[in-house]
Amino acid sequence: MKIRREFIEKIPKTDLHLHLDGSLRIPTLVELARENGVKLPAWDETTLRRRVFKDAYADLPEYLKGFAYTTAVLQTPQALERVGCELARDNQAEGVRYIEVRFAPQLHQNARMSCIDVMAALDRGLSLAKREFNARAEVKRGSEPPFEYGIIACAMRMFDRGFSEYFDNLLAVHAHSERKWVFSLASMELVRAAVEARDKFGLPIVGFDLAGAEAGYPAGDHAPAYALAHRHFLKKTVHAGEAYGPESIFQAITDLHADRLGHAVYLFDAGMIKSPEIRDKKAYIANLVQFIADRRITIEVCLTSNLQTIPAIRDLARHSFRHMRKAKLSATFCTDNRTVSQTTVSDEIIKAVQAFHITPKELKNFVIYGFKRSFFPGSYLKKREYVHQVIEYYEKIEKEFS
Ligand SMILES: [Zn+2]
Repeated sequence: MKIRREFIEKIPKTDLHLHLDGSLRIPTLVELARENGVKLPAWDETTLRRRVFKDAYADLPEYLKGFAYTTAVLQTPQALERVGCELARDNQAEGVRYIEVRFAPQLHQNARMSCIDVMAALDRGLSLAKREFNARAEVKRGSEPPFEYGIIACAMRMFDRGFSEYFDNLLAVHAHSERKWVFSLASMELVRAAVEARDKFGLPIVGFDLAGAEAGYPAGDHAPAYALAHRHFLKKTVHAGEAYGPESIFQAITDLHADRLGHAVYLFDAGMIKSPEIRDKKAYIANLVQFIADRRITIEVCLTSNLQTIPAIRDLARHSFRHMRKAKLSATFCTDNRTVSQTTVSDEIIKAVQAFHITPKELKNFVIYGFKRSFFPGSYLKKREYVHQVIEYYEKIEKEFS
């Protein structure tokens, strides 16, 4: 069977690595900016796409520029609700049935919205789109799997003045402390709020992550927050390997207890190993890959985004996904940022199929891994039932197209 676009759009899919603030509809961004008095560098979609949300970027810092505008408009519960709802609808429209929306609540926290208010507002938007979708007859009678979602709370690896009201206050209060310590303090506070949001208010906060520029800000600085998340049964993922090599991936899965890895592009890159203690770099990588494979630690692969932030990859066929696939690692395709990367889950899958000549059987595995390795916000039994329903539906579509 040749894998066609119509097939990819129809199968149930997941997006486990999806940043809220990188995935706003541009007309919504413009409207919200007007309503909230936020200045944009342009007021029409074409110019914004040419100047901010581009096809190609020089590097990760340039890629991250657009986020200043999107977070600036997301400072009210109404705005968060709206973009949450639209994001879920955009996913539903291309057959995505499960999303994990990640964002840094502290970027939206201000005098009028606590960290928990921020998470609750996003949840209201997502929940509205979920209820609408699941009210359809096909879902109600069980012939199609429902739409589900979870929220991942991201701490910031680093922040500065001007990032948000919350961070400004924190930096002012701790003006004489070492920055590293203030970053760590903020991520601890976030874990506490996330656990409270989940346990006291029943919000589907399923995981913890770190967002923001990687280079110079190692994830290890946030180990106490990860330990706290671990103790409270929050699942963990770490952006590891957009800017760092195998050692940071090792640190993510050992010290930070990562259940999944964001990107892990340099997993196979001996040249990125810095420690002089690692003499046999090849053996180190082989052991690390073996460990990740054995534990079924899932890699959230974001092909378009990697091409944009790591221009050295140049050609998708040279992306380290080819080694992940050969090593039979658990991996699943994600968008990272629908707007900033100008992509969709279907686009990502099509690119992968074309660049790596993925077979239908492999594709099914990658797609189902997404459901199996999600941080599903319910009991294991419920998740199992859901995954079975998804597989059944996937096979029904396979039959239609075969
Ligand atoms: Zn990301």
